[in-house]
Formats: sequence, structure tokens, C-alpha cells
Amino acid sequence: MSSRNQNRPPHSNSNKKVGAEEVVKDKRSSIEIEAEKLEKQGVAGRARAPLSAMVNNTTSDSDGTDLNNIEFTKEDIESLLNEKMKKGNPYNNKIKVDQMVDLIKRLKLCVRWCVHENEKLQSAVESAVKKSCDSEIEMKNKTEELNDTISDMRETISFLEEINAKEKSEKLVAIDDNLNLQQCNSSLQSDLKSANEAYRRLEMEKAIIVESLNDTRDLNKELQDRLKSLKDSQNESIKHKETLANELTCLREELKKIVDDRDRVQGRLNAVIEERENYIKFKYETYSKLDKLAIKTEALEETCSSQKAKITILEQKLRVEREKLEMADLSAVETRAMSEEHKRIIRELQDRLADKEIQVVEGEKLRKKLHNTVLELKGNIRVFCRVRPLLREDRFETNMVVSYPTSIDMLDRGIELVQNGQKQLFTFDKVFSHEASQHDVFTEISQLVQSALDGYKVCIFAYGQTGSGKTYTMMGRPDAPDLKGMIPLSLEQIFQTSQSLKDQGWNFKMQASMLEIYNETIKDLLSSNRSSGFDQTRADNSVHGKQYTIRHDKNGNTHVLDLTIVDVSSPNEISSLLEKAAQIRSMGRTQMNEQSSRSHFVVTLRMCGINENTEQQVQGVLNLIDLAGSERLSKSGATGDRLKEAQAINQSLSSLSNVIFALAKKEEHIPFRDSKLTHLLQPCLEGDSKTLMFVNISPDQSSIDESLCSLRFAARVNAVKLGFHGVRPRHTQGAMSPALARTEKY
Ligand code: ADP
Ligand code: MG
Repeated sequence: MSSRNQNRPPHSNSNKKVGAEEVVKDKRSSIEIEAEKLEKQGVAGRARAPLSAMVNNTTSDSDGTDLNNIEFTKEDIESLLNEKMKKGNPYNNKIKVDQMVDLIKRLKLCVRWCVHENEKLQSAVESAVKKSCDSEIEMKNKTEELNDTISDMRETISFLEEINAKEKSEKLVAIDDNLNLQQCNSSLQSDLKSANEAYRRLEMEKAIIVESLNDTRDLNKELQDRLKSLKDSQNESIKHKETLANELTCLREELKKIVDDRDRVQGRLNAVIEERENYIKFKYETYSKLDKLAIKTEALEETCSSQKAKITILEQKLRVEREKLEMADLSAVETRAMSEEHKRIIRELQDRLADKEIQVVEGEKLRKKLHNTVLELKGNIRVFCRVRPLLREDRFETNMVVSYPTSIDMLDRGIELVQNGQKQLFTFDKVFSHEASQHDVFTEISQLVQSALDGYKVCIFAYGQTGSGKTYTMMGRPDAPDLKGMIPLSLEQIFQTSQSLKDQGWNFKMQASMLEIYNETIKDLLSSNRSSGFDQTRADNSVHGKQYTIRHDKNGNTHVLDLTIVDVSSPNEISSLLEKAAQIRSMGRTQMNEQSSRSHFVVTLRMCGINENTEQQVQGVLNLIDLAGSERLSKSGATGDRLKEAQAINQSLSSLSNVIFALAKKEEHIPFRDSKLTHLLQPCLEGDSKTLMFVNISPDQSSIDESLCSLRFAARVNAVKLGFHGVRPRHTQGAMSPALARTEKY
């Protein structure tokens, strides 16, 4: 039983039914009340103020009027719209404007009233519509609620009928067994009855609600009709309003025109005033400008007067300058005449100068000729004596065995040798003391060296015992550039002079050869095939070496066949050749001097000069010879090969002295061929060649015997004057030689 009750749907109780009825009643009554209110709020039913009062109010205070207390009837509005302008003076604008303003005010008030009324109606309609909608929604909700209840009830009824059917079936099955089921059935029947009753009540409620809904609809319809009529009247009002607005616009336009006229007149008046002000301003400005111009005029007048004074001064100056110009023109003519005179004088002087230059050239030729004659008279072989200083090796020596006479005729020419307390005097062309420098010596021979550039054959050799300073004099000290000997200094000078002679049109071609004569054998010191080193050199020359043949041609030029001849064009080239030759040169060791040479060292420079201007040609030869030591065999202590070397050296030196003395005696046979040295130097010892012999002397006591021998030999040579055989230097007879411009000292 309990389970059956649980399955039942919820039932609305009797209180609920009563509440629903009350709600419906309340709704109905509220709708009715609203309808009554709306009727009361209708236009017709309103209490309104009379138009006359409204008109009076509007005229007195239009803006502050309470619109709720004013009423415009349709007639009032029409009369207002149809109101005409009062007739009066048509040209009295003020009255017309006042009337229009009054009419506009009233029209504005009327329009505002219309708008106000329209707004009120609209709000009333909106509230009525809203209320109608609300009640309609409420009715719908109620209807739905009732429909829900009815459907619930129907479901309940169907549910109960279903249960009833089930129970009936159950009852039919167990009708005999369970009497309680009948009771239950009866209770269910009663429940069914009550449910049917409730259903009926609900049906009634529904009918009431539907009825009230119909009423509400009617009311709504009525309200809609009213709203429509209100809208119509509103439209009418709007039309009125528009008409009024148009009229108002026309009136405004007229008013605007009037205002524009007034503004134009006012603008013209302002322009006239402004023009007047400008005129006044311009007047004052003009006055001030006039004042300024007056001041400027005064200043300009002053400037003008001062400028006039200046112009007067300048005109005076111009007159003076013109006068000066006229004077200058006159002096220019005179100057031109003088200039012509000067030019004529210059031409005369130039002619005389050219004559003098020709005379100078002729004079130089004469001087050269006389100079050469003097040299020939002096003798073409000259002897200079040079004493070396005491060396460290001579430390045991305290006094030098040589002295130099100071008498005038002997100064720089005499030398005394002190032996056993006795002085022996020798005189030479020049004596250089132990203090003489390389430069001092070279100064004395430089003119002789340059005679080679004049086309002479020049031979300079150094004679003396080993260690007496021959190599020092001829080659200098290789380790000290400031102590260069006669050979490098002479060659450098030849190059320098040949360069300076280029200005006179001379071009020189130089050829150098360097050889040594060792043991009567010629050795080429510039051969590129030679290997350096003493022993190798010795072997090459003495055993397997070439036999260089000496030839002299008919022009007096010497040729050593197969000897290397190198073209040289600068001092650097010749000095590198000298270095090479000095390295290869044979050296030996003797008791006298570790570095003394045992060969004759012969440097030959042949120079061929051509003058492009004069077509003159010269061919000169410069032989520079460092002879081997002249010491006697007993002193050198040489034996074996060294003895053989010494013998060869002595023999060649004897041959040299024999040749010189034979030349002096003018013997028919001159034994040039007795030695290679004399054979080689033959052209330089005969004819017009110039020979200079240095006799080098050691000043120490131990060398006194050798020094005496050397001095005696040199004295004999000095006495020899190589004869002048009428042979001219090898250049064109009478032509000016390259050295003519130099001062001869030799
Ligand atoms: P030589 O060639 O005659 O055998 P050197 O020229 O070799 O003699 O000279 C021998 C030494 O004397 C060398 O050391 C050299 O420097 C030196 N000597 C020679 N003459 C002078 C001089 N005038 N002034 C200074 N030293 C000299
Ligand atoms: Mg030497």
C-alpha cells in the first residue's frame, strides 16, 4: 500500500485552488482599475485652462509657463495659424517685428504644448500597452500553469487507471483470496473521485481565466484603438508644427535680411572709420619721413660739397700727372736711343770677346807646346824619393838614418843618409819625408797622370827594397779608404776628369788590364779562368800556365796576347778589378816582410778619347807598377824557390837599369828584351813618354845598406834625361789636348 502511494503524482490542494482564484480576481480587478485610469486620463476628460488665460500667460511669460495648466483646443490652434499681421504703417519695421515676435512666441508655446501633449499621450499609451502586455504574459503563464496541472492530472488519471487496470487484473486473479484488495479498490475509487473533482475545479478555473483573458484582450483592443486615434492626432499636430516651422523659417529669413542690411551699413561705417584712422596714421608717418629726408638732404649736401673739393684736388693731380707723363714719353725716347747704343756696344764687345776666345785657344796651344818643351828639357824620366815612417817592427830603432836638408835649393829635393857618421846627400825631383801623406804625394803626380788623357804614355813605378813602402805608396792600405795609394787615386782622377771633359765634347773609352810578372812569367790577374791562391797560381804560370807574348805595333802600342782587357766606365768598376787582382797577386814569405811581393804588379789603363766637336782623337796609356823588392840576396836569406824568385827579380831590375842607362847614353842597342818588364814598358821608356820612378826608403838602421843602394840607383836614373826624338803625342798635330785647361805642376 505504501508503495502505491509513493508512485502517485503531486496533487494541488484545496488552498492552492483558492489562491489561484484570488489571483485571477486580483488581476481582473487591477486591469479594470487601469482601464478606468486611462479613461480618466483621456484628452476629453481633462480639466483644462481657458485659451484666453493661456494667451495672456504666453504673452506675459512664455518660457516659464507650466504647460500642464494650459489647454489649446483645435479652434484655438486654427485661429492662431490663421492670424494675420495687423495692418499699420508698412514701413514701420519695429511694429512689424514686435507683432511677429509676439506671434512667434505664441506659436512656439502652442508647438511646445502640442509636443508636451503628444509626449504625455505616448507615455500613457506605452504604459497601457506595457500593462496589457504584462497582464497578457501573466495570463499566458497562468494558462500554461493550468495546462501543466491539467496534463499532470491527466497523467495521474491515466496512471491511476493503469494501476486500476492492473489491480483489476490482479483482482481477477486473486479475487477470491484477498478481500483487502476490494477495500483498496474502494479507496482508490474514492481517490479517483476526488481527483475527478479536482479536475473539474481546475476546468472551471481555466474557464474563468480564459474569460478574464478575453476581457483583457478586449481591453487591449480598446487601448489599441485609442492609441491609434492618439497617433492620428499626433500626426496632425506634427503637420501643424511643420507648417508653423516653415512660417517661422520665413520669418527668420526676413529677420536675417533686416539684420544683414543693418550689418552691411555697420560694416561700411567701420570701413570709413578704419580708413580715417589709416589716413591719420599715414599722415604722421609721412611727417616723420619728411623730417628724415630733410636730415639726409642736409648730409648729402655736405658730402657733395666735400666731394667737389676732392674732385678739384684730383683734377689738379691729374694735370700734374699728365705733365709727368709727357716728360716720361720724352725720356722714354731718349732711353730707347740709349738702349740702341748699349746694344751696339754689347755687339762690339761680344765680337771682341769671340776674338779674345780664339786668342786664348791659340795661347793655350802655345802654352801646351811650351809646357811640353819644358818637360822634355827637364827630362822625361823623373825620380821622386819617399821615406816611410818607422814602424812598430822597428821599435828597437831610436833614430832614423835619413834627414832632410833645409837649405833653400835642397828643400823638398834633398835627402841625407847617415852611415858611419858620414852624411851622403842625394837630390831628386821631389823628396817626400816620412810625414808626407798619400794626398801630398798624389798632388805632385796628378798632372802627370792627366798627361795620359792628353795622349801621352805615362809610366809610374815604385822601386825599393821589400818593406820600404812601395805597395803602400802605389796601392795604399786596403783596410783604410782614406789611405788609398797612387794607383786607385790616379784611376779615380782619370775617370773624374774624363767626365768633366764631356762638356767640351770629349768621350773617352777606357780599357784596363792587370798583370804580374813573376819569375819572368806574365800572369793575367783579371782572367776569369784563374783560380785564386798562391800555390795554384804559381803552378798555373810556371809549369802549365800560358806564355803571354808581348808585341808592340808600329804606333808604339803594346799588346800582350791573350791578356784579359776589361772595358771600364766607372771608378767602382776599376776598384773592384783592383781588389780582385790584389787577392790573386802572388805573395810570399821572406825574412824581410811577410807581405812583400815577389812579383812586379802592372796596372795598365788605355784611354781613347774622341772629341765630337773638333774631331780630335787622343790615345793615352797609363802604366802603374808596383815593382818587386830590390833587396840583395844575402839579406833576404832566401833559398830554393825563394832564391830563384829573388834572382829573377834582381835580373829584371838590372835590366830596367840597363835599359835606362842605355837610353841615357843613346846607345844603338837598347836591351828592352832582356826582361819581360823592360820589354813590356818599352814604349813608355822611349820616345816622348813620361816616366816617374818612386824610390822608397826604409829609415831604419838595419836597412841602411839597401837604402844606400836604392838611393844610388835612383840618383843615376835621375841623372838620365830621356831624349826627345821629335815624336809628338799621339793626337792631331797642333790640336788642343784635353788637359790644356789645367795648370801644369809637373
Ligand atoms: P813594400 O811593398 O815595399 O814591401 P810595404 O808597402 O808593404 O812595403 O810597406 C811595409 C810596411 O810599412 C807596411 O806595413 C806599410 O803599411 C808600412 N808603410 C810603408 N810606407 C808607409 C808610410 N808612408 N806611412 C805609413 N806606413 C807605411
Ligand atoms: Mg810590396
